[in-house]
Amino acid sequence: EGKVDLSVRRADFPILATEANGHPLAYLDNAATSQKPQYVLDVLDKYWTGENANVHRGVHYLSQRATRHFDDSREKVRVLLNAASTKEVILTKGCTEGINLVATCLTGPSPYRLREGDEILVSTMEHHSNIVPWQLAAERVGASVNPIPITDAGEIDLDAYAHMLASGRVKVVGVVHISNSLGTINPVKEIARMAHEAGALVLVDGAQAGPHSLIDVLDLDADFYTLSCHKIYAPTGVGVLYGKQHLMEALPPYHGGGDMIRTVAFEGTTYADLPAKYEAGTPNVAGVIGLGAAIDYIASVGREAQGAEGGLRSNLAAAFGAIHEQEIGLARYATERLLEIPGLRITGTATEKAGIVSFVLARAHPHDIGTILDQEGIAIRAGHHCCMPLMKRLGVPATARASFAFYNTYEEADRLVEAVGKVHAMFE
Ligand code: PMP
Repeated sequence: EGKVDLSVRRADFPILATEANGHPLAYLDNAATSQKPQYVLDVLDKYWTGENANVHRGVHYLSQRATRHFDDSREKVRVLLNAASTKEVILTKGCTEGINLVATCLTGPSPYRLREGDEILVSTMEHHSNIVPWQLAAERVGASVNPIPITDAGEIDLDAYAHMLASGRVKVVGVVHISNSLGTINPVKEIARMAHEAGALVLVDGAQAGPHSLIDVLDLDADFYTLSCHKIYAPTGVGVLYGKQHLMEALPPYHGGGDMIRTVAFEGTTYADLPAKYEAGTPNVAGVIGLGAAIDYIASVGREAQGAEGGLRSNLAAAFGAIHEQEIGLARYATERLLEIPGLRITGTATEKAGIVSFVLARAHPHDIGTILDQEGIAIRAGHHCCMPLMKRLGVPATARASFAFYNTYEEADRLVEAVGKVHAMFE
């Protein structure tokens, strides 16, 4: 009933028709990075061959054209996040840079400056990029970084969180929207509400949510929200930091240099308005234009799903609705079949889960699983997934992880299960 068949979209991604180790490539490492559709590759090619110029500086034709496309991308990101203004859309290198920016700027002069004795809470399932920048900031000012416990199913323990907020010393809460390791979809709106009630700011790491769900920063009421756009069908080296306007105006700049200033003098320098204040130096022009193309591409998927034109936001909503359905369908199917393998344990059994399936076998090490699957052309990830504290909590050194995108097929899920079955048989 009106359900769209996203598998036809597979043909949009040329790399998916290639081979690995003599087998058709089954790319199940989408949480690490997504593949790029031909549409994005064409826009990049057109940029490099006919439009390359620096932005925001030139009076000439090419520079003005590049600037227009660059600024168009920022507006598309604003719609993608449902931010109130493009002033709140800071373009970065990725999630890592966005989080470092916020953590560093919170140690500089502003009414929000972190001080000795302050507490920063991050969940036990955070990626290292939402732990280490906070540790560096805490070290600088004498604050502490405290882990919010998680349950055995891999969900944030909200009672423990409430208890930690009650100390009255919590100034910042950092939490991942969708865990790259477990697939858990965290109740970030509720987490933000609780933090605000306790007077703390909230940063949401949206690295894994951006590619798979419709984000609404206004509804979540996140103070800061970060994206890594190479996971959203765009090139590497581009990310987004959303920050509420009044906060980004109050915080000090991060990097100094060209473009982030209003006037420079040895007697004193004044800074540019948002978002330029946080974008020193020549940006990744091609990457940002590629990001705009990736957002248009997702919207085209949504147009098809809706069977109607609609605005950008409604097309994106339709796209992410269909994308999410397809991905969790694949992940549930793979999970059910994997569980038939004796000794296989799924790590991460939250009620709300995205298309990520992490698992361990009783005898084979995850690296052995990854290596043997690679021989069959199946790309998964094996390791700690940049979540060493989470691995410690789970009591495993590493996991094997299959992460699905909407362009994956049930046949690929079958190949995964059969290959893991072979690994099990080899290690029995
Ligand atoms: N957070 C999460 C949850 C992630 O999955 C990743 C990427 N693996 C990051 C942060 C860091 O992203 P990047 O390396 O692109 O900055």
